[in-house]
Amino acid sequence: MSDRLRVAILGAGMAGAAAARRLADAGSLVSVFDKGRSVGGRMATRRHGTMRFDHGAQFMRAHGDAFAAQLLEWERRGIAAAWAGEGRRVGVPDMTAPVRDLLAGLPVTSGITVARIRRIDLGWHLDAADGVHGPFDTVVITFPAPQVTALLDASGYALPGVERATYAPCWSVLVAAEGAATGALVKPGAGPIGLIALDGSKPGRPPGTRLTIHATADWSRDHLEEPREAIIAALLPVAERHLGVALRPTYAEAHRWRYAQVDRPLDRSAVYDPALRLGAAGDWCLGARIEAAYDSGSALAGAILANLGGGP
Ligand SMILES: Cc1cc2nc3c(=O)[nH]c(=O)nc-3n(C[C@H](O)[C@H](O)[C@H](O)COP(=O)(O)OP(=O)(O)OC[C@H]3O[C@@H](n4cnc5c(N)ncnc54)[C@H](O)[C@@H]3O)c2cc1C
Repeated sequence: MSDRLRVAILGAGMAGAAAARRLADAGSLVSVFDKGRSVGGRMATRRHGTMRFDHGAQFMRAHGDAFAAQLLEWERRGIAAAWAGEGRRVGVPDMTAPVRDLLAGLPVTSGITVARIRRIDLGWHLDAADGVHGPFDTVVITFPAPQVTALLDASGYALPGVERATYAPCWSVLVAAEGAATGALVKPGAGPIGLIALDGSKPGRPPGTRLTIHATADWSRDHLEEPREAIIAALLPVAERHLGVALRPTYAEAHRWRYAQVDRPLDRSAVYDPALRLGAAGDWCLGARIEAAYDSGSALAGAILANLGGGP
């Protein structure tokens, strides 16, 4: 039997992918599980026929050295490219590309909702609809904080502080249209819309008018339980006014992100219980952006490795 550390990574967003890559590069045997159909988490791309929309995060930006170096490396390899100025980078050909790159060659099981984790004789097991996975030496959970808490509660475990982190929701509307909208990124600054991104302006995407409209956190909270049609009907005319064009949509869809952007982070890089060999990471540790998820996942991997005596 191998004496390599067996780590289950729950969640294949940026935090899970960063943790998985760092642990795998240090020699651990990682297995990644995600309930989604594909990887990326909130770095998400919706397909409709031949059309694609980034309907979650729109761009990445680096504040610290580690993520800046990672962005440069992705840019050099064509996995990220500059968009809309001010240091913004997008994944190429879509926003899932950076996460797919980190997970390349690692075992990822998609479409698996982990309902419970159990520790039997020092080995962790995961309960999912398709059966039990394990044993693992260590479990890393990288869901949004309320979903981490739900899994821990269902399993009879706790990690300190997770419940303190909170999120704002976001309604996202995807539109393909005949009207020719120009520009790249519109941030109105007032009203129900926080941001409009023109997908055709992003590098590596086909031309054409495809928009992602993100409502503000306040508006999304106030309209959280409304039907999709009402959300589209409310936001489309406002977007037309901001863009100065009659869109004439050929396709419109709305997606509700219940946990979109962190509004109260934990202000710790990650949470790890070395006695249990159980940890959690995600944007909710450090702040509302992709870089925070990357830094948190990397930090948790570092803490796990340091605890083995192998150094971060
Ligand atoms: C609408 C929107 C716009 C945004 N815009 C930007 C932006 O422009 N720039 C920016 O930097 N950030 C932006 N963000 C925030 C950014 O997307 C996140 O900070 C980052 O992607 C979070 O990564 P994560 O790995 O922490 O979590 P996630 O990406 O949420 O990954 C968690 C994963 O866990 C999986 N999961 C959850 N529960 C289970 C379960 N029980 N079993 C198995 N798997 C499970 C989920 O499927 C998901 O894939 C935006 C977010 C949204 C929603």
